[in-house]
Amino acid sequence: MTKINMRDMLAKYDKKKLTIATVCSHSSLQIFNGAKKEGFRTLGISVGEKKKLYDAFPLGKPDDFFIVKNYKEILDYTDELQEKNVIIIPHGSFVEYLGPSKFMNLALPTFGNKLVLDWESNRKKERIWLEGAGLTMPQEIKNPKDIDKPVIVKYHGAKGGKGFFVAKTYEEFQKRIEKNKQYTIQEFVMGTRYYIHYFYSPIQNNAYKLSKGSLQLLSMDRRDETTIDEVQRLGSIAELEELGIHPTFVVTGNIPIVMRESLLPKVFEMGEVVVEKSLEIFGGIIGSFCLETVVTEDLEFKVFEISARIVAGTNPYISGSPYSELIQPGLSTGRRIAQEIKYANKKNLLCEILS
Ligand code: AMP
Repeated sequence: MTKINMRDMLAKYDKKKLTIATVCSHSSLQIFNGAKKEGFRTLGISVGEKKKLYDAFPLGKPDDFFIVKNYKEILDYTDELQEKNVIIIPHGSFVEYLGPSKFMNLALPTFGNKLVLDWESNRKKERIWLEGAGLTMPQEIKNPKDIDKPVIVKYHGAKGGKGFFVAKTYEEFQKRIEKNKQYTIQEFVMGTRYYIHYFYSPIQNNAYKLSKGSLQLLSMDRRDETTIDEVQRLGSIAELEELGIHPTFVVTGNIPIVMRESLLPKVFEMGEVVVEKSLEIFGGIIGSFCLETVVTEDLEFKVFEISARIVAGTNPYISGSPYSELIQPGLSTGRRIAQEIKYANKKNLLCEILS
């Protein structure tokens, strides 16, 4: 979607009645809660009735539901949704349920820059972006015969780490690999994981200043992944593997965490270069994004992934995090998104943060 038809579309909107909408999953409770706190109407797009669940959380319940038979149908209802002055807040499940190409063609004002999807979902382009920005990523092993240290094998398009496996030798790799699938082999980085939640505003200059706009650190989490994170309750991984029990990396939840304060300058430097490079190559990553990192024993960050929108790891912080508390008490990522939209609307800058 071009900026021109975005402008046309927004021209028809009643700016006093903007409605924050998202798919009822992932981080929707937080998004609706944050939008309500900022005075927006909210709309939950859902397959089938989800009222019963949301009734359990009145402060995270959307004002209205928009029921579809399947998420791909959303494209058929864009006129109706435009009449409701809807602004879409995409999250990981939203993009996954709709499919990347339908998401790209979604004719609804969407928070963030959709062009990022191409750079984020293509592992080669992601590497060009992040390494080009100066970040260190885990080494990629092109030929499995070169495996001479622990590696993690990632299937392309696998959801939530499903099917990923660890191998220490070429023989182990051969035993486990599903040859009909596309995969990437990465050095398994030894260290501790931090999933860092940033917010970049191209239109506000009241935080860590960049060449254009400013950057905030809102929170960080560690993912809880089954079975790897608790498998040791049954025995060592080596023991279990001998019995044919292999650990898996499927995300089931998120754990709040803070980092030693001396690492924070590096955290901001990483966020800064990622944003500056994004401005250069596709016009900028807008709003929330997450760098998925491992910190090694030499206190070096290796970044294994970027998520270019609100991540579920922000959910432990609906009432604020130890970092966002120092920006505004009780500030969640969901609320920060709503604030950005409110500010842009007031200053007539919505086109700068929507696509
Ligand atoms: P991803 O789908 O790339 O986010 O990876 C799923 C999970 O696998 C992560 O949350 C980490 O626990 C683990 N992981 C991914 N890449 C690496 C790596 N290079 N080294 C160590 N662990 C990794």
